Amino acid sequence: MRSGFKRMETFTAGPGRGDVADATIAVLGAGVAGLVAAYELVRRGHRVVVLEADSRVGGRIFTHRFGDGAGPVVELGAMRIPGDHELTLRYIDEMGLSDQLRPFTNVLTDPDNLLRIGSRFVRARDAADALIHETARSCPGAAHRSDALLFVGWMHAMVRALAPREQRDIMRADLAGLLDVVGGLDVTPFLRDGRADLGAAFRRHPELRAACSGRLKGFLDDILRRFSTGMVCLPHGMDQLPNGLARRLPGRVHLRHEVTAIEVRPEGVTVGLATERGPTTVTYPVVLCTLPFSVLRNLPLRGFDADKVETIKRLDYGSATKVGLLCAEAFWNRHRTVGGGSASGGTIRQTYYPAPITDPAGAAALLGSYTIAEDADHLGRLSVEERHRIVVDELTAMHPELRAAGMIQDVVSVAWGERRWSRGCAAVRQGLTGAELEQDAAQAVRAQGGLFFAGEHCSVTPAWIQAGIETALTAVRQIDRFAAVVAEHRGSTAVR
Ligand SMILES: Cc1cc2nc3c(=O)[nH]c(=O)nc-3n(C[C@H](O)[C@H](O)[C@H](O)COP(=O)(O)OP(=O)(O)OC[C@H]3O[C@@H](n4cnc5c(N)ncnc54)[C@H](O)[C@@H]3O)c2cc1C
Repeated sequence: MRSGFKRMETFTAGPGRGDVADATIAVLGAGVAGLVAAYELVRRGHRVVVLEADSRVGGRIFTHRFGDGAGPVVELGAMRIPGDHELTLRYIDEMGLSDQLRPFTNVLTDPDNLLRIGSRFVRARDAADALIHETARSCPGAAHRSDALLFVGWMHAMVRALAPREQRDIMRADLAGLLDVVGGLDVTPFLRDGRADLGAAFRRHPELRAACSGRLKGFLDDILRRFSTGMVCLPHGMDQLPNGLARRLPGRVHLRHEVTAIEVRPEGVTVGLATERGPTTVTYPVVLCTLPFSVLRNLPLRGFDADKVETIKRLDYGSATKVGLLCAEAFWNRHRTVGGGSASGGTIRQTYYPAPITDPAGAAALLGSYTIAEDADHLGRLSVEERHRIVVDELTAMHPELRAAGMIQDVVSVAWGERRWSRGCAAVRQGLTGAELEQDAAQAVRAQGGLFFAGEHCSVTPAWIQAGIETALTAVRQIDRFAAVVAEHRGSTAVR
């Protein structure tokens, strides 16, 4: 395969390197939260093991490398980093990856990205007339200025592209009210070349947000934040972050070690494990659990208080499904599309084009479909063959180039809602007030004896890599304090 991609060494250490019992702290899960915590605990002099069920590290950071590992990559998990996520950028820097960072272009950011309007696909640069007509048709009766129709049309297009079905329905119901609000403002400074700078307009006019109902408000905050912070990515693979961390923990990361039970006892925390050598149990003075609550709630948990069990059971998780294609060439470059994503609609929702970092004539990866919520559940529950067939059919309607013989070389996907070690894409705490959010996250973090908790689900701003790191660092501080108290109590340094 011709490509400009470097072969990346993934972290593959399996069972047998070191003894799982040779530690005073066990970290459950080798996602970014578990790895950052283990890395920092080791730096502080603790004896640590990391126990991971999967045959790779990274969890929801999951780069698929096509071909023999030197081919194009597609991100089946996390793919972008907001420019203000300092903790994520700090560890990227510490792993020596900063010089690889490149801007990440969002959906509809490239003027040649496609936007589905009705049954047609229109390039973002040419979408103005179609959006004006579509918005006018959706709100018959009152006459509206074309700039108001265009602005609301772009808002609607963005929500349709990115939001779950519930918010898309709210947006449709809110259209007329929004048009009235926008009609009373001067939005022309936020319209250029037929496109809209929604982020700048929302910052300048808070009444726009106020005109949206219920959960749509929160979702718009998230969308606009994503479009305002200068996203970056690692085009050679986001998995370099977890792989880099794991390589700095030689002999301590045990893959294919599935946690099957947890019991909190006065003398420590007993962890049941399923390994390739058979089942085993180990008791550690301290355990840090980073397993998603969607997984943890299905394990036998003993010695937990009732409130904690309730918190673990109650937390909602959203879904996401991603489908990646290996194409014989980056055909999208023929249309000058150099990144960003199309609002594909239909079943497939969003399609992302990688920035051209390889020989443009060589094979290239395409994130054919990125869905969330019910759309992800729908694709996720299909058989893999059916899921791939539907995605390829819908993508081909948008990109007829895919019909060429030999153009599609491979298709891969992950349905995070169905995945045994995730059972969801990320924790969802929508609809809570600030105080309720804080309380819910504090409950998620709350330790049980020597058992501590971290992971994106323990953060008030979940669903990001940064959330995993931030909660890992909090847990490290808690464990350090706990270790000092236990050592003082025992008159020794037993916990280290
Ligand atoms: C599709 C998708 C897109 C995303 N996009 C972005 C993005 O663009 N930018 C961003 O910053 N974030 C994004 N995120 C969120 C980000 O990936 C997560 O918030 C973060 O990686 C979570 O890290 P974690 O360590 O808390 O959890 P995880 O990564 O889930 O780590 C938990 C680990 O525990 C392991 N495990 C589970 N059960 C067991 C068991 N029984 N025994 C042993 N091990 C077990 C899992 O295999 C996993 O390795 C995305 C997530 C998804 C799914």
